[in-house]
Amino acid sequence: MQEISTIQQMKDWSRQSRNNEQRLGLVPTMGFLHEGHLNLVRHSLAQCDRTVVSIFVNPIQFGPGEDLARYPIDLERDKKLLADLGVDAVFIPKKDELVPPDMNTFVQVENLTEHLCGHSRPEFFRGVTTIVLKLFHIVQPDVAIFGEKDRQQLEVVRKMIEDLNLDIQIVGLPTIRESDGVALSSRNSYLSPEERESARSIVQALESGKSLILNGETSAEIVKNQMRSVIASRTGTRIDYISVCDPRRFGEIQRIENPVMLAMAVHIGNTRLIDNYLVEKNSCKEPC
Ligand code: AMP
Repeated sequence: MQEISTIQQMKDWSRQSRNNEQRLGLVPTMGFLHEGHLNLVRHSLAQCDRTVVSIFVNPIQFGPGEDLARYPIDLERDKKLLADLGVDAVFIPKKDELVPPDMNTFVQVENLTEHLCGHSRPEFFRGVTTIVLKLFHIVQPDVAIFGEKDRQQLEVVRKMIEDLNLDIQIVGLPTIRESDGVALSSRNSYLSPEERESARSIVQALESGKSLILNGETSAEIVKNQMRSVIASRTGTRIDYISVCDPRRFGEIQRIENPVMLAMAVHIGNTRLIDNYLVEKNSCKEPC
């Protein structure tokens, strides 16, 4: 596996792949890899001739007081996991090269970033889209793979691709979960055993919301109240948002008729976790 740390080296490597007409897959990550990331990587390996995984803890997607300074990093472990899978290149850019202090250009997808995580973290999506677009220009992949765990991010990236006429196929893959349903996240490493137990309330709330809808409930308010009560029944939890919304544009829904997204961000102690389910009346895209 090629380890690449400069933008020029990454561009040269990618140009070589393109010259050889190799289909290139990119999996952008912030590292501290888990099975959720590795599932995206496996998909790229299966669908593309060459796979690049980027690891970059993106400073401009963190707001003041968020967890940038303590975000978990273990590059040696990550590199071993990726090499063992057969990844062709890992791109670990230097912060000052990818985000130079005098950088003045940022990318902002409007409207769908006003809701959910965009509402709670006003700088978040601008930081994500700016860095993802830079990675797309540097790597020039044919395919880029993202997780539905961050469904809003996935749709925001899709909208950016559409609006800016980029020729990149965006693939979204289902959320990988622990055996008790808790979504895998690098941030789960912050949780104490008691907090890890409380984190189960997130998936339990989503399950209870889903079953209300599948049993015919059409009031989003009733579904949200039910989900809120599941979270509130656990100690050490604080709801950031709970939403029943349109799964592509994220506006709140009052009456549930079409497929909806149940989404939430919950603080478990000092750790903010997000999760979502896509629920359709007659079927369910998340673990049923
Ligand atoms: P991150 O390193 O958290 O920025 O995530 C990098 C990519 O992995 C994003 O596309 C995430 O949506 C995806 N991802 C993170 N956790 C999971 C998970 N549990 N299941 C599937 N994809 C995930």
